[in-house]
Amino acid sequence: MDTRIFLSKSISDISLENITSEEKNVLDFEKSLEKYLGKKNCVAALNSGTSAIHLSLILSGVSHGDEVLCQSFTYVASANPTIYQGAIPIFIDSEKDTWNMCPKYLEKAILDRISKGKKPKAIIFVHLYGMPAKIEEISLIAKKYNIKLIEDAAEALGSEFKGKKCGTFGDYGIISFNNNKIVTTFGGGVLICKNEEDKQKAIYLSKQARDKVAHYQHSEIGYNYRISNVLAGIGVKQMKFLEKHISRRRNVNFFYKKFFKELKGFKLLEELNKNRLSNHWLSCVVIDEKLTGFNREDLRMFLLKNNIESRPFWKPMHLQPVFKEFPFYGEMISENLFNNGLCLPSGSDLEITDLERITSSIKKLL
Ligand SMILES: *Cc1c(COP(=O)(O)O)cnc(C)c1O
Repeated sequence: MDTRIFLSKSISDISLENITSEEKNVLDFEKSLEKYLGKKNCVAALNSGTSAIHLSLILSGVSHGDEVLCQSFTYVASANPTIYQGAIPIFIDSEKDTWNMCPKYLEKAILDRISKGKKPKAIIFVHLYGMPAKIEEISLIAKKYNIKLIEDAAEALGSEFKGKKCGTFGDYGIISFNNNKIVTTFGGGVLICKNEEDKQKAIYLSKQARDKVAHYQHSEIGYNYRISNVLAGIGVKQMKFLEKHISRRRNVNFFYKKFFKELKGFKLLEELNKNRLSNHWLSCVVIDEKLTGFNREDLRMFLLKNNIESRPFWKPMHLQPVFKEFPFYGEMISENLFNNGLCLPSGSDLEITDLERITSSIKKLL
């Protein structure tokens, strides 16, 4: 049997050094990201993207009983921190162009929540699979209603909208460096702030909120969310290879694009126009069963038989058992994507022979 092709393998380009418990690597990692993301971005390095979202909610003033508007079509980590804060997630459907938060339903939800007596405290939108969302429309709505904007760019390191990096548009942005992301520190995340004060507040909260006195004194509840210096050291080195990984993943996507153009019944997630640049963390395709004669599970199982890993899309939050009691604004966009979509192998390790094996398997099933 052929060797296994994995869905999204990250590869390490570095060997370990500088192993100490001081914060030198942490500070260097933050600096490398501030340089990469551009001026006016203040970066706090944390132990995960999830903790970055949690701290962004705290900095946005979200607390018990508040409402937070959250993209439904996402990984569960976008939504969980709202629950940690004792707040209430309100889920918003996707639009068809980028598959991210629908601005129309976002505004509908805000107006409806206000009419019910409560203005939402924050908006969490996502650049899913690396594809930049409808940033301008969403930012305008956030401004119009004066609601804090949190940008979940966990999957979108290196993606751009009009030449500006994803993660830098919201009041707060977050990026994940977890195992399967485009660059990994084997566990890690960053919070991107618009000023040094917010950054320092985040770092303080991430280190158990210790008062500035010699003994251990605490005036508020903190968290153990700081990244380890060892993992930050990996991050500093890995960042040097980011462009290579982006270009590899974009090449994978380009290969699929050429392949599916010849076929009926497949819709690949693509940039609408030159305003958007996706890192194409994962290449995603929606299958029209009427035209292909098979559905996404048929294709997934067939690929698996050929030792090729693929994966259904994220199941929308409003369809998750754990969130079923919370409001949802939208229709069937994200639900249809979930029912018919498949993430194809997209890893930085894929060779042209692997890609040919994948596409010839798809042809075989056709
Ligand atoms: C990975 C991911 C996160 C969370 O990041 P972790 O580092 O795994 O905690 C949040 N949102 C999305 C969309 C993600 O894909």
